[in-house]
Amino acid sequence: NAIIDVDRLSKQYVNGPKALDDVSLQIDEGEIVALLGPNGAGKTTLISIICGLVVPSGGTVRVGGHDIRTDWRAARKLIGLVPQEITLEPFETVLNSVRFTRGLYGAPPDDAYLEQVLRSLALWDKKDAATRELSGGMKRRVLIAKALSHQPKILFLDEPTAGVDVALRREMWQVVEQLRRDGVTIILTTHYLEEAEEMADRIGVINHGKLLLMQPKDELMGEFGKKH
Ligand code: ADP
Ligand code: ADP
Repeated sequence: NAIIDVDRLSKQYVNGPKALDDVSLQIDEGEIVALLGPNGAGKTTLISIICGLVVPSGGTVRVGGHDIRTDWRAARKLIGLVPQEITLEPFETVLNSVRFTRGLYGAPPDDAYLEQVLRSLALWDKKDAATRELSGGMKRRVLIAKALSHQPKILFLDEPTAGVDVALRREMWQVVEQLRRDGVTIILTTHYLEEAEEMADRIGVINHGKLLLMQPKDELMGEFGKKH
């Protein structure tokens, strides 16, 4: 009864490497899964395919039971994506940016819900600020608010703490903790073991396009011989 079901997925980029090689994984509703691997491992390719942004070379992906090839409209409504790069409309206000994204998903206006999202991310005070005026941490939170704007069941966070300082990293961990309590299924990519360990229920290790293992955090940490 997985909310995400990836079966024998592969991706060969034109004039590029085989970025994914026979990857299968299932993720249950409410789970938090970290995909851990070095640069170039295939993490972004994997989440981009699940989100419908990149076309796979082989295999199938089902999101909430919907095959992303044939039923991508239904699949897409279930998904929010926080991209790696900060992509905001600099002169637009925070509230309008979030409203706009909600509209893109075809969801009817619901400012009460958006207020709740912005409050939960400590952004309500900034709702009328242009996004260019915000600090880096706030910009990242706006990206999360945008990704949550249409009430998705699944949130993808691509390298949520790449290039951020320790304080911001902790802030991001707290946001994930809060989303966990809200029952959102979260898939995040990272190349920090520490981060995977802190946030995830299960950790998948990916390298050279292969999913090398996928295990509950506690078992994996046991194998690394760590004690906490
Ligand atoms: P990541 O930080 O996830 O490793 P990269 O820095 O590898 O991402 O890639 C950044 C962007 O460039 C992505 O949109 C990716 O699809 C694209 N890209 C990466 N490698 C290549 C390549 N060899 N040819 C064309 N585009 C690429
Ligand atoms: P990661 O997110 O783990 O850093 P990526 O999925 O971004 O890995 O990249 C996996 C491999 O595919 C890398 O070798 C990268 O250069 C390559 N790649 C990524 N995007 C493209 C693209 N659009 N065209 C060609 N190669 C790409």
